[in-house]
Amino acid sequence: MKHKIKKSKRRLRDVKRIRNHYRQFVASVEETPPVTARRVRKVLIYESEYAFICRETLRMADLGLETGGQFFGKVSWGGTLLVTKVLGPGPNAQHSPAFFQQDIPFMKRESERIIRIGSLKQIGEWHSHHRLGLSVPSGRDSKSMFTALRMHSEMSQYLLSIAVCDDRFANATPFMYNRDGYETWEWDVIPGESPVSKILESR
Ligand SMILES: [Zn+2]
Repeated sequence: MKHKIKKSKRRLRDVKRIRNHYRQFVASVEETPPVTARRVRKVLIYESEYAFICRETLRMADLGLETGGQFFGKVSWGGTLLVTKVLGPGPNAQHSPAFFQQDIPFMKRESERIIRIGSLKQIGEWHSHHRLGLSVPSGRDSKSMFTALRMHSEMSQYLLSIAVCDDRFANATPFMYNRDGYETWEWDVIPGESPVSKILESR
């Protein structure tokens, strides 16, 4: 009997010790400052869609003109972006050596089609800068992004990608805008064709 009491007392002591240890552990975790190193944020994009931007940029650069379009996809709860469809210029888009304006009726028509397919939404836009042009957004680009964010209060961020090229190769960089400015992000390319593009082409 005596032995049993001793044993249960010891057990109680152990439980207390473990609890204290746990409390200390929790406290030390809570006191640890957050990691302050700058994270590189990435936008997921299908290979077929990124290749489309590069092809279209090279095609219009041969004519000395800018081109562009819109991004459609999804945003995860954690803020990760996935581009599943890149729209190009419509037949009545305005291309000039230093300016691109999308064909709005075309964009509206296509948006409805794309959004219906995969409950997607428009998450940004892209355009090219002429050869040897600026690889970052111009002052005018930023102004129009801030206007778009002001007009759409439901959006806290908006993606703009600028494509540039030389005689043979093109590349595009994603810039993520919020109401205060923009950050340079990186692409994370998913190999293969976007399932949304595949469906759109088959219709
Ligand atoms: Zn621009």
